[in-house]
Amino acid sequence: MFIAGNWKLNCNISEALDLSSSISNILSGKNIQSEVVLFPPYIYLDPIRNIIKDNNISIGAQNCSNHVLGAYTGDISASMLSSIGCEYVIVGHSERRIGKLESNSDIALKANNVINSNMIPIICLGENAKAREEGNALKIIENQLNESIPKNIQNNNFIIAYEPIWAIGSGNIPSLDSINEMFNMIRQWLLNNNIDKDTKILYGGSVNKDNAKELFSCENLGGLLIGGVSLKAREFSEICLIAG
Ligand code: PEP
Repeated sequence: MFIAGNWKLNCNISEALDLSSSISNILSGKNIQSEVVLFPPYIYLDPIRNIIKDNNISIGAQNCSNHVLGAYTGDISASMLSSIGCEYVIVGHSERRIGKLESNSDIALKANNVINSNMIPIICLGENAKAREEGNALKIIENQLNESIPKNIQNNNFIIAYEPIWAIGSGNIPSLDSINEMFNMIRQWLLNNNIDKDTKILYGGSVNKDNAKELFSCENLGGLLIGGVSLKAREFSEICLIAG
């Protein structure tokens, strides 16, 4: 399993160091096969990498620029992230699609830059509540697949995270049947594009230690993308231990 903790815009430096040390200490010496990756704000990536590096935990970034180099004040490029030891970058999170008006083509560009910098993009897809209620969820996600996945994908050089927007931070999660239905459609899309079964599909949205066990029983689940609970060292680590 792949367990990702997306810290979003949270923590000052001492809280960030405490949180990563606590997770690292709880998981230290445990026999965990899963890949655990923390996604703190950019400025904490380097110090956190030094804390977790001996404990089989990796770091990733929450975003990157769609540009490669040049006059783009405030941007951080994929190659900069790679140069400080990042292995993964989240692209297309719904908070950026909505809040920063990122389009599917922006996301494909970012994912392309991440792959070209030898890291793995976690490409987020998700429908809003209206699309779900109107029965259009599968169609919306298929369209996001067609437009947000770059052309340079190969087996295992990217990860997909299905995160229904209405499930993020709301305490509501889809039924296992509807997650399975969505995962089957995504898996079929991947197979149609010559991507094999080892390429991971994550679920994200209101994951906690109580629903994690049930989610792990989902066919096709490659792991979890966790927001709010990733700020709680004990509960996040417990989910990593349940994943095994
Ligand atoms: C997220 O923002 O990626 C997320 C899944 O958040 P939460 O777990 O808080 O719903």
